[in-house]
Formats: sequence, C-alpha cells, structure tokens
Amino acid sequence: VRQKKFRVEEFRRRCRETGIPFTRQRRLILQTVLGLESHPTTDDVCDSPGVRRGGVSRATVYRTLEKLVRSGAIIKVSHEGNAARYDGRTDLHHHLVCLQCGSVEDFAGEELDSVSVPDTSAAGFVVKDFRVQLRGLCSRCLKNRKKD
Ligand SMILES: [Zn+2]
Ligand SMILES: [Zn+2]
Repeated sequence: VRQKKFRVEEFRRRCRETGIPFTRQRRLILQTVLGLESHPTTDDVCDSPGVRRGGVSRATVYRTLEKLVRSGAIIKVSHEGNAARYDGRTDLHHHLVCLQCGSVEDFAGEELDSVSVPDTSAAGFVVKDFRVQLRGLCSRCLKNRKKD
C-alpha cells in the first residue's frame, strides 16, 4: 500500500516536471490500475466502483490510460486477439497469458530475469527492456475443460 502511495506521488512529481496537469481524474485512474492486480482492460477500469462514482467517460479513461503509459507510470500488456491490458507493476516481471480467457497473471522467475538479451545492433535496434509471456491455459480454464 505504501508503495502504491509512493507511485502516485512519483507520478504527481513527474506531472509537475513535465507540465502535465495532475487532475483528479488522472489520480483516480492511476490509483484504480495500481489497485487492480488483474491487469485490467479499459472496460475493467471503467467498471471499477471508483471510476463509476467519479463519472469519468470511457473516452477519458482510455485517453488517460494511454497518457499514463507514455509517462511510464504504468505499462501496457498487449497480445493479439485480446483487448490491451494495463499493468501497475513497472518492475521486471513476466506474465502467464491464458489463450482461452485472455487472463494475465504475474509470474516471477529468476531464470527468465537472467535471460541474456541477444545482440540486436544488426537490426539497428536498441533493447531497453524485455518481458516474457508464457502462453497457455490458466487453472480456471483447465478445470472447466475437465468438466466437459
Ligand atoms: Zn483462462
Ligand atoms: Zn504484470
């Protein structure tokens, strides 16, 4: 919880430095993403009680999420065929992505953290960061399969 408060403070400071207004709505949406560990979609953020109470429109939620991504306050997790998801955790971690329901769970693995990044200079590309997506079926989907 303390870390989440710190992250909101950090974002506020960054807004001040870069001249972006730190609005009530931006704070609310950032807090919502930090509070949801489910890697929420835009719709999940819209449906959260705080955002609903705040009467923030879907378009504003979407625009704000993208702004938060650009400022580095949150990250975006995308995989083909599913809606983009937002992640309040910006430290190095990996994801278990379910191919059936699209759920995204955090996964910590030292052996993944220490993967050596290949030389991409021939492609004229500079690597800044990497994430591993392990794709498969989540426990809920596996359970439902067994029932059929
Ligand atoms: Zn699943
Ligand atoms: Zn994550």
